[in-house]
Amino acid sequence: TRSTRPQRLLKAVQEKAMKGDPQSVISTIDYFCRHSEWAMNVGDEKGSILDSVVCEVSPTTALELGTYCGYSTVRIARLLPPGTQLITLEFNPAFAAVARQVIEYAGLHNKVCLVEGASGDMIPKMREMFGIKTFDFVFLDHWKDRYLPDIKLLEGCQLLRKGSILLADNVICPGTPEYLEYVRNSPHYKSMYYKSHLEYTKVEDGLEKSVFLG
Ligand code: SAM
Ligand code: MG
Repeated sequence: TRSTRPQRLLKAVQEKAMKGDPQSVISTIDYFCRHSEWAMNVGDEKGSILDSVVCEVSPTTALELGTYCGYSTVRIARLLPPGTQLITLEFNPAFAAVARQVIEYAGLHNKVCLVEGASGDMIPKMREMFGIKTFDFVFLDHWKDRYLPDIKLLEGCQLLRKGSILLADNVICPGTPEYLEYVRNSPHYKSMYYKSHLEYTKVEDGLEKSVFLG
């Protein structure tokens, strides 16, 4: 049977990237997606905005919703201070299997916990599974109609604290109108837009950074 796109992306990493070097894994995936096959990674352009937010927050607890092949996981994990754990959620087992290998190849498996399951089921289990009190940083990049229900779930489970930072990808393309309307108008958030482009294209897209005010 034919290979899948995530499998071909993994093969490019294994053949071209330097083992144990996250930056080389990132560059190899970006090259593959620009020159061979487009894939739904946050990509290099929005990725540098993601990097700067992660560095500014310097989280000790971080959650990613939507792992796919582990591209953004590697981007985030490589910047985390020692001792920080990044939990990343992915409900597609085939994607999770590829991501595990990408994360391991980058040498970041000790910093990342990949959980296979749907966000709506797993978020309420974060405290019992990992002893998390609250998340300092949450990156939202799963299916777009889940952004709003899942931050309401994070709020309801008291997994956000005053000052927790949410960073949401693809708020313009494909777009997350209900989520944007909520974080921009709720008195519980202070929110701002970072204009950029959809991964590997010239189409407008951007990230929305929202501070939870409690
Ligand atoms: N963050 C990744 C990156 O930038 O490299 C890309 C993630 S991709 C855009 C979205 C992923 O979220 C898909 O792999 C999909 O299977 C997963 N996903 C969608 N809805 C989900 C949910 N409710 N729970 C867990 N995973 C989900
Ligand atoms: Mg995205």
